[in-house]
Amino acid sequence: MILLQQALNIVDRTAQPLPHEQITASAALGRLMVTPLHAPFDVPAWPRSAMDGYAIRRSDQDAQLSVVEHVAAGQIPTTTVTPGTAVKTMTGAPVADGAELAVRVEYADEQAGQVRFHRRERSSNIVARGENARVGEPVLSPRVLRPIDLAVVAAYGYQTVEVLQKPSVGVLSTGDELRTAADDLAPGQIYDSNGPQLVALAAAYGCNARFYGIVPDRSQALRTALEQALAENTFVLMSGGVSMGDFDVTAEVVRDLGLQLQFHRVAIKPGRPTLFASHPRGYLFGLPGNPVSVFVTFELFVRRLLFRCAGLTPERVTVPVELGADLRSKDTKRTEFVPVSLADGTAMPLRYSGSSHLSALAAADGLLTVPTGTEHLPKGSTVDVRPI
Ligand code: AMP
Ligand code: MG
Repeated sequence: MILLQQALNIVDRTAQPLPHEQITASAALGRLMVTPLHAPFDVPAWPRSAMDGYAIRRSDQDAQLSVVEHVAAGQIPTTTVTPGTAVKTMTGAPVADGAELAVRVEYADEQAGQVRFHRRERSSNIVARGENARVGEPVLSPRVLRPIDLAVVAAYGYQTVEVLQKPSVGVLSTGDELRTAADDLAPGQIYDSNGPQLVALAAAYGCNARFYGIVPDRSQALRTALEQALAENTFVLMSGGVSMGDFDVTAEVVRDLGLQLQFHRVAIKPGRPTLFASHPRGYLFGLPGNPVSVFVTFELFVRRLLFRCAGLTPERVTVPVELGADLRSKDTKRTEFVPVSLADGTAMPLRYSGSSHLSALAAADGLLTVPTGTEHLPKGSTVDVRPI
């Protein structure tokens, strides 16, 4: 058994670069963007009014002013604001030279080209040129692109983005006890949740995922299924069949298929049996059977491998939070991950019966890390939480 950090180092060392491609921004939702975007110009490109209002001199707030021009968004002012004058300026329009303040229309009484204000502004309501971003500044770091990110891409005038070419991911579930939701369950059988979970996780990270089905616990069946999945995909994610009883079969298959075993068993809870192997064209993960373990080990290892193959440094994904209740760990030799809710700025451990307790994970806001060697985390201490 190796420590979590050792396993992460092995993932880093094993990762080989995968190809990138340039795609149109409108097709980039959910794709892994690999190149940071920089502002190609100052934003805003001119001092911009944040209000529908009157651009004036600061010292003119109590005076009666002549409204000398109306500027709508998309227009350019042609006059300069001087003492005694105001330029009516709509939200998003450039503020005329000489103005120090935009007083919102709600504070104004305008009649026959003359305006007075019945309230004072506390801030200038003018966004300075380059206040959002100066030319050359980074505006979007590499990430799986969300709708808000595509707004940034568009706002800075990018028509295309560079992303990781969709890697192919083959998913298979092992276990004689597994059925799909279309089947009736006989006593002792359970529904396969790892297959759908892994397909969805891979898709959520911008991969093409394909399910290869439920494989019975026989080495010949496993060999046939893995052989096909490995030939057709860069990443193969299998779940189950890597704990102590099953490992003999899996180890034999991994060896027979010519894979290089990178690690098996990591000091984490849940997820100890995790297996990682590689071959010249791709990678195999043997993830533990329990569904919470699948989620945790995907987050820790598969995600990391994907980012490394994309040429990215996996960003820091934990935040420090105050612990809302005492927490004890039974196994100090392993890094432990505990589902927590994040309410009122504190992390609260959820009722959680262990790595098969999928609904506890689905209810969680994050996973709290209990480092190795820690028996007791007192209420009020600062803990690391990975938001999920
Ligand atoms: P294993 O690692 O194969 O010994 O599986 C550990 C536990 O996870 C057992 O209780 C299995 O029934 C359960 N399990 C294995 N695979 C799946 C799956 N695909 N979906 C849901 N539970 C599973
Ligand atoms: Mg099994």
